[in-house]
Amino acid sequence: MANDAVRSIGSEQIPYFRTEEFSETMFENEKLMLKFAKAPTKSRLVSITGSGTASMEAVILNFFSSYDKVLVINGGSFGRRFVTLCQIHKVPYEEIKLGLGVSLEEKDLLPYEGKGYTGFLVNLDETSTGVLYDIQLISGFCKRNNLFLVVDSISSFLADPFNMADLGVDVMITGSQKALACPPGVSFIVLAPRAVERAYESKVRSMYFDLKVALKNGERGQTPFTPAVGILRQINIRLKEIENHGGVDVENGRIKQQAVDFRSKITNLPFKYITNSPSNAVTSLHPIHNNAYDIFLTLKNEYGIWICPNSGNLVNSVFRVGHIGALTKHDNTVLVNAFKDLEKRGLL
Ligand SMILES: *Cc1c(COP(=O)(O)O)cnc(C)c1O
Repeated sequence: MANDAVRSIGSEQIPYFRTEEFSETMFENEKLMLKFAKAPTKSRLVSITGSGTASMEAVILNFFSSYDKVLVINGGSFGRRFVTLCQIHKVPYEEIKLGLGVSLEEKDLLPYEGKGYTGFLVNLDETSTGVLYDIQLISGFCKRNNLFLVVDSISSFLADPFNMADLGVDVMITGSQKALACPPGVSFIVLAPRAVERAYESKVRSMYFDLKVALKNGERGQTPFTPAVGILRQINIRLKEIENHGGVDVENGRIKQQAVDFRSKITNLPFKYITNSPSNAVTSLHPIHNNAYDIFLTLKNEYGIWICPNSGNLVNSVFRVGHIGALTKHDNTVLVNAFKDLEKRGLL
């Protein structure tokens, strides 16, 4: 959910963007995004007009080739997306398959120590199940084995603690429509210095996704092609607001409280958690008695409340409740009261 300030910018005219004013907006966005990602000095931000998947594809195109051998954590539909991208772009890979909602453990990485892998791809919060992977474990493994570490933090950014510099993450990806709570259409690639260097050396076979051209344009606060100007202005307001309210740790704490509050309110309801290590961004639930998609539909149609259905083979068994964006504890209460009402009606 977007807040009032973000929505109000959305109603304004879209200004022409090859201007000093818009460059200033882009510089501010870069500065705050790098700060919130806790990126090392000399890191850079690339803004892609396209949803999160566009940035995932840009990262595969720019940083990996047929000479690489990457490890992919595949514990759900977003992990599978990385696997598909490796297949399409002919990047040799090995997938570490994890069951739905199952967290990553040391034993899962052990067989791959010292085996000549060159890169590592992970969705920090595998949003299809809401499992948050152990990034400390992954970071240690990648440092030991000198792997180029790419973290899809699309749903985890701002919601879970993350320190790109300490973790030695080379590339972090996020998007406009998750915890930034802006309209969909923009995604971000944060590049640590090693990634900036690698992008400049890369012979990427793409025009729109050539990151060195984007980095070069970014030096003057511009993009190679027309960006989603309106959304970037909304993101600018949102980033400054987070900064003015105490920064990323405060926003992280607020989202965590929102998740903890929700989870404490559903203890007596007929749900089963599908992961033991949930991200703060989302709670994935399996309703024990009734169809998850039917519950989503009834809440939408009869109560005016939107939760998030799952897709694929989880559509009937799992739904998700988000804790990101302009939500309050009161919103949790309204939802939980609706669940209780559904329970009385035999529909939960
Ligand atoms: C939302 C999300 C994406 C990107 O999806 P788009 O629809 O392309 O924005 C990628 N990875 C994760 C983990 C996500 O939560």
